[in-house]
Amino acid sequence: MDILDMTLCELVAALDGGGVSSTEATAACLNRIKDTQGLNSFITVCEDAATDAARRADERRARGERAPLLGVPVAVKDNIVTDGIRTTCASKFLQNFVPPYDATVVQKLKAAGAVIVGKTNMDEFAMGSTNENSAYGVVKNALDPARVPGGSSGGSANCVAARQAFAALGSDTGGSIRQPAAYCGVVGLKPTYSAVSRYGLIAFASSLDQIGTLTRDCDDALAMLKVLSGKDERDATSACPPAYPDILRGDVRGKTLCIADEFLNTDKLDDGVRAAFEAAVDALQKRGAVIKRASIKSFAAALSVYYVLSGAEASSNLARFDGVKYGMRAEGCDSISDIYVKSRTEFFGAEVKRRIMTGNYVLSSGYYDAYYLKASKIRTVIKKEFYAALDGCDAIISPTAPTVAPKLGEQSDPHKTYLSDMYTVPVNISGLPAVSVPFGAAHGMPVGVQIIGKCFDEGGILDIGKAVMLADREVHNA
Ligand code: GLN
Repeated sequence: MDILDMTLCELVAALDGGGVSSTEATAACLNRIKDTQGLNSFITVCEDAATDAARRADERRARGERAPLLGVPVAVKDNIVTDGIRTTCASKFLQNFVPPYDATVVQKLKAAGAVIVGKTNMDEFAMGSTNENSAYGVVKNALDPARVPGGSSGGSANCVAARQAFAALGSDTGGSIRQPAAYCGVVGLKPTYSAVSRYGLIAFASSLDQIGTLTRDCDDALAMLKVLSGKDERDATSACPPAYPDILRGDVRGKTLCIADEFLNTDKLDDGVRAAFEAAVDALQKRGAVIKRASIKSFAAALSVYYVLSGAEASSNLARFDGVKYGMRAEGCDSISDIYVKSRTEFFGAEVKRRIMTGNYVLSSGYYDAYYLKASKIRTVIKKEFYAALDGCDAIISPTAPTVAPKLGEQSDPHKTYLSDMYTVPVNISGLPAVSVPFGAAHGMPVGVQIIGKCFDEGGILDIGKAVMLADREVHNA
């Protein structure tokens, strides 16, 4: 078997068995990255450091040492800080920023023996759904280079689809792991809010941000989650998750899955995606799942709530980028306010400026009650409705995105682009865990099925995800 065709778990088994070395696996990824450089999945490739880390992993193995990801090549989204490795957030503002420390998740990856092959491309400051907001060029979808990979973790999803790494870290504030996973045909897990430490994640909207994973299958996602999750003193919002299961069975017999009427009663949902989703529901039913319908009325308000709240939080979080402490400073400034204005004008991209402006607007006196406060109240309603729907079932299922990956340049209207998050944002608003898994295709591109679970039931949703992928193989002979 070609090394690059293995899943992460298969690679770990092969490394343990001695059939493959980390040096070989890492070289295979680095070569693939070079051969497919045109995809632009990476902002920084760490060729020398990765080669060194792989050699050290092989030495540790030879001494009989073991660690869960010892020698496994992985990639990290470029908004997660890495000690000594440039971390740009895909912004010109941070083009020269070399962090002096590792994010907790990076420390955990290293402690588990993983080899970091590079930092992945993304939408600037994680704001976007197509990766076209990167200051480092667009990413081309590995399955069809005329299309986008989704966003904002587009590089992370794409590098897994292109076999440039065995897994990647992403971040998800409103869908940025799950939506690109759907567009690239990989598995994207957004864990429960607080399950994985965000220390060292460059903040976008702190009440919504969550680090998670992009992998080839659900077992790989579970293996990564076990390494990454846990309480971290340096992130006050982090929690102790429960013990996750040892294995996934992919068994949905007797499980109740809920679909909200509002998910399907919309003209925003593409017919091809609708058909693929319905086929997935059928297949799950054949495997013994019970399908239940519910109503989540506040679903329609979720996008507006998300763009008010995330903008407000972003405008506050991004105030630190002022040309003084972090990143670039514009030249020829003659006062402190001149530094702020010129640096922000020159180094922030258009979408980031749009978010900062709308965020400041909704927080300003006179508008606060009408926008921010109102959105916060509706947030509570959305959360209650999702919790209530979950009360009577094992998981809620939906399409991950209303369409397949759009063509490059096709989405020039930001408001249309925002629609691609309609199924994913309510999950961040509610703090729940969700996974996107591929099932079938439409317009020649993969379709994602989203499985939303109760807090800390990552084990449960990954198990259902595994069943969806088994059914996909059965139905589509994939
Ligand atoms: N596409 C959404 C946005 O632009 C979500 C981004 C994210 O999850 N980081 O805000």
